[in-house]
Amino acid sequence: MAERRVGSAVFRFNLAPHLAIFRLVPQKGDAFPHYTAGQYIALRRENCRLTKKIARPDGTFEYAADMDENGNVRRGPVTHSYSISSAPFETEHEGWLEFYVILELDELGQPGRLTESLFLVDPGEDDKIIYYTKIAGEFTLGKLAKGFHNVVFVGTGTGLAPFASMLKQLNHDALLGRTTDTRYTLFHANRTARELGYHATLHAIQEGGKIDFLYVPTVSRPVASDNHDPHVGRGRASNVLRYAYDLPMREEELLREAGGNGEARTRAQAALDRIVRPQLPSHVSKEGLRKRLDPGSTIILTCGNPKAMEDIKRVAALAGVRFEKEEW
Ligand SMILES: Cc1cc2nc3c(=O)[nH]c(=O)nc-3n(C[C@H](O)[C@H](O)[C@H](O)COP(=O)(O)OP(=O)(O)OC[C@H]3O[C@@H](n4cnc5c(N)ncnc54)[C@H](O)[C@@H]3O)c2cc1C
Repeated sequence: MAERRVGSAVFRFNLAPHLAIFRLVPQKGDAFPHYTAGQYIALRRENCRLTKKIARPDGTFEYAADMDENGNVRRGPVTHSYSISSAPFETEHEGWLEFYVILELDELGQPGRLTESLFLVDPGEDDKIIYYTKIAGEFTLGKLAKGFHNVVFVGTGTGLAPFASMLKQLNHDALLGRTTDTRYTLFHANRTARELGYHATLHAIQEGGKIDFLYVPTVSRPVASDNHDPHVGRGRASNVLRYAYDLPMREEELLREAGGNGEARTRAQAALDRIVRPQLPSHVSKEGLRKRLDPGSTIILTCGNPKAMEDIKRVAALAGVRFEKEEW
């Protein structure tokens, strides 16, 4: 049975105020269990602001702060799973696990219970994070991608985490002479270029050429400084994949489905007007990309935003490609 241990955060890198990479070392005298790239572990903090489910007058539900009789928010432990973004070889050498985490915010801008507490973590100060001594998960290349010549990863936001682990491990194995003839392609989208976690590492793996790897990073809400990097394209990952398969953007489909006039059409048109259209990074050609997406020999693995994953599933079905996702 998994037991609880108290680890310490030894490193935190903020890609943005709401997005960070954390490194966690195990409790003194302990070591993290061996794991395979793509797996996850449960993390917990003790002093989280708790919420409770409340029924709205219209019959729907929301989660609101759980207050005690004195009007203070109740505090307590919250545990969630996190995909490990370090590669197994890094943990073997260095001892730590790495995580790529976003601060959860609801539609009112209220932070999630555990991530609010995780984003208070300060190495050397408030640095304790509890972990469970079990690393689990079936979202691994060995379980899902055996026999496929083309493996396509689609990571939205922090959904990159398991793929960062896999690609770093594959590159390490190749450096040690353990190579395969599999082609790996990664679509990773985040809002802006600075939020593209592991960008330099992934670019270096591509340029190193030890594995057959094409890196397709894009930004869905570019800021002015994002125009300076020609290696970063534009658009949401699902729409970039649609572009590669010559499919219309999801917003174009929704406009067509909305039909003639009316409110639905106005809304769909407004969504289409707002969208950042797909544009590949300068080092990626559509023809070259298509060869790596051949339906007969390709599997698409995706992880991250549930809405984006739904659309990637739709794309995979339209293109006739095998599809697997990691549920968060
Ligand atoms: C296998 C796996 C791997 C994951 N890997 C990552 C990762 O690498 N990086 C990452 O950023 N995230 C990852 N996640 C998501 C992560 O586990 C958390 O769900 C996320 O960080 C939000 O946690 P939170 O406590 O801040 O938000 P919560 O407080 O849990 O809020 C999230 C939503 O849960 C609901 N909610 C709020 N209060 C309650 C309540 N009291 N009871 C029930 N539901 C409630 C609300 O709908 C809210 O919008 C992963 C999830 C899974 C399952």
